[in-house]
Amino acid sequence: MSHATDRVGDSVHIIGAGIVGMCTALYLQREGFEVTVLDGRGPGEGASGGNAGSLGIASIPPASLPGVIRRVPRMLLDPQAPLIIRWRELPRLLPWFARFVRNATPSRVERIADARARLLERVHDAYAPLLEDAGAGDLVRRTGKVIAFEHADGPARNRYTMEMRRRRGVRMEVLDGDAVRRMEPALGPLVRAGVYFPDVHYVADPLRLVQTFAERFQRLGGRLLKETVTGVEMEAAGPQAILTTAGRHTVGRLVLAAGPWSRPLARMVGYRVPMATPFGYHTMLVDTKVRPRLPVMSDDRNIAVTPMDGAVRITGIAEFAAVDAPADWRRADIALGHVRALMPDLGGTVASRWQGARPSTPDSLPVIGRSPHFSNVFFAFGHDSLGLTMGAVTGRLIAAELAGRAPEIDMAPYRPDRFDPAWLGLLTCTRPGNMPYRG
Ligand SMILES: Cc1cc2nc3c(=O)[nH]c(=O)nc-3n(C[C@H](O)[C@H](O)[C@H](O)COP(=O)(O)OP(=O)(O)OC[C@H]3O[C@@H](n4cnc5c(N)ncnc54)[C@H](O)[C@@H]3O)c2cc1C
Repeated sequence: MSHATDRVGDSVHIIGAGIVGMCTALYLQREGFEVTVLDGRGPGEGASGGNAGSLGIASIPPASLPGVIRRVPRMLLDPQAPLIIRWRELPRLLPWFARFVRNATPSRVERIADARARLLERVHDAYAPLLEDAGAGDLVRRTGKVIAFEHADGPARNRYTMEMRRRRGVRMEVLDGDAVRRMEPALGPLVRAGVYFPDVHYVADPLRLVQTFAERFQRLGGRLLKETVTGVEMEAAGPQAILTTAGRHTVGRLVLAAGPWSRPLARMVGYRVPMATPFGYHTMLVDTKVRPRLPVMSDDRNIAVTPMDGAVRITGIAEFAAVDAPADWRRADIALGHVRALMPDLGGTVASRWQGARPSTPDSLPVIGRSPHFSNVFFAFGHDSLGLTMGAVTGRLIAAELAGRAPEIDMAPYRPDRFDPAWLGLLTCTRPGNMPYRG
């Protein structure tokens, strides 16, 4: 099918001013589109501003790996574990977990790893022009990142995922405990080994990055509206208008980039996406006695420590809950306790805490591409723990598709209709019911 009419001058509305929405907006502007971004909050005030800041190009292994069916139940029974389920959510989550577990076969894992690698190897290249144009290059720190282990044979025990990375070209260096501490003196004696990834950069203020992109977008003539989308007016050819807290906008092309809230929006345009929204938490520590030199991720405890501008950010926990459920700050305390064990001299006082949701698909791949039903609808969500990393490459792919250019990679693994037969979505094409989103 030709989409030549998508070219220059056409209008595009994007729902969501997170990192994915803003990168998409900037790339669409580069293609000459007239872009409006709508968000009920300020740019980056979803998950994009509160994450660990990692441009995680080494995160090739998916979440669902062989053996997951044995490990997860054990973790769920441990109150200190990094994976938590609010039990009331379990019935709704079971179909998602069933798909998740199905993706743990070795052959599926390899296919998913390939598809993740194809996006990850383009991350720095896709960000470069946006960072340069917005004057935001100084927000990206090129320190590399360490994964710390509390067993000397930690890297060997993780041979499967290490090899998965190595075979796809990720550079890494295995270190013993002393070498890890020389690299990151804030780490204490519990750490017995590590792996250093020199090409994993990080963003020292993710909120500022999204805000800077939003400012640049507006300076280039883009419209950023602080409005919550509450409904979509559908006709046979697709959405004709969106309804918001401020009124109605006629739409030409529509991009859904609403992160964890994309599921109800997608449903309005006839697409059922299996998406869970595990919460994560962060704590900002100020006046620490030592400042970590580079981001550290603990393999055993699944928490991350990032030396952000002005504070040390501690992130972690995957708590499966409804996207609009209230925060449970005990989770943030658990993550902080883990960091105090790993970095005993860190000190510092808590300046703020934050909770946000990750948009997680059961196959650890984002949903990127044109709707199977309507040629004027595009999906750009489901990036799980890699939305900051994959924001720019997603924006570049969506912009190319709208511009009618051949994609730079095979888009099949990210297709919106990979989960269900397309007709199933159309049966459920609906106006909004409850929008679990508070702008
Ligand atoms: C604790 C934690 C740590 C993480 N660490 C990393 C990391 O180190 N590296 C990494 O790459 N990723 C990380 N992530 C994941 C990353 O933060 C997300 O994948 C990413 O932010 C998703 O971006 P987004 O633009 O899709 O969604 P969001 O940033 O959530 O943006 C969606 C936007 O849509 C808006 N919206 C929703 N519904 C509506 C509506 N109806 N009308 C109008 N607006 C609407 C929201 O207000 C929001 O601003 C982490 C996540 C968490 C929770």
